[in-house]
Amino acid sequence: SALLEARGLTLSFGATPALRGADLAVEGGEVLAIMGPSGSGKSTLLHCLAGILTPDAGEVLFDGRRIDTMAEAERSALRRDAFGFVFQFGQLVPELTAEENVALPLLLSGTRRRAALAQARPWFGRLGLDGLEGRRSGELSGGQAQRVALARGLVARPRVLFADEPTGALDSLTGEQVMDLMVAAAREEGTTVVLVTHEPRVAAYADREAVVRDGRASSLSSGRIAS
Ligand code: ADP
Ligand code: ADP
Repeated sequence: SALLEARGLTLSFGATPALRGADLAVEGGEVLAIMGPSGSGKSTLLHCLAGILTPDAGEVLFDGRRIDTMAEAERSALRRDAFGFVFQFGQLVPELTAEENVALPLLLSGTRRRAALAQARPWFGRLGLDGLEGRRSGELSGGQAQRVALARGLVARPRVLFADEPTGALDSLTGEQVMDLMVAAAREEGTTVVLVTHEPRVAAYADREAVVRDGRASSLSSGRIAS
């Protein structure tokens, strides 16, 4: 059965409906791309799957457990322990070095500084960032900053990595390098990836695509509507 599942999600922002009965199942270990036009509800669906937003109706299940009805403290612990995040603009903390940024999820879950930095360090070699450990985000190129953000998303070895337009701020070559690294690292770690993108070249890295239109999702495989 699915690792992560949305069933009949509806969610409105005031009078604006963002989701209107969205269903989506994510299998453990897959890389899933959520595609669709701007404003169709992709980010809202991702945020519901990640336990960041609570839908007005419907259910979100992770590992067979309802997360939409969980108490916020429990849900925030789940996000911290089981989920990793990468956003469009790396959103690194500018006051921290690259290495401290990567270590941040570990520090926030109580790992001691020395151990957290030791766990962060190998990611620099893995993602082609050797020598940049001490830089601050203002001293990194866009592609470097996004690879640091990727390392931060994976350092706590999440079950699911959520990536919202992770290449949206990058040129296409740099974006492809980030996608290559993201997919390779996720496969090595056995991490499931849920990715939002409007770029077909980025979605091509996924095992499967789902398309969101007007707040509803349909699953595509091999270019045909599967369900
Ligand atoms: P997508 O990711 O496909 O571009 P979104 O999920 O961001 O779509 O948005 C879906 C709809 O919900 C859009 O009409 C958007 O303007 C609206 N929306 C999203 N987030 C908010 C918000 N925080 N407040 C008000 N409206 C929002
Ligand atoms: P994307 O759809 O690529 O995530 P957006 O620019 O649509 O990017 O949204 C960026 C942020 O702004 C998101 O957190 C979203 O929830 C919020 N947002 C989107 N549309 C609106 C809106 N109409 N009013 C307020 N916030 C919005």
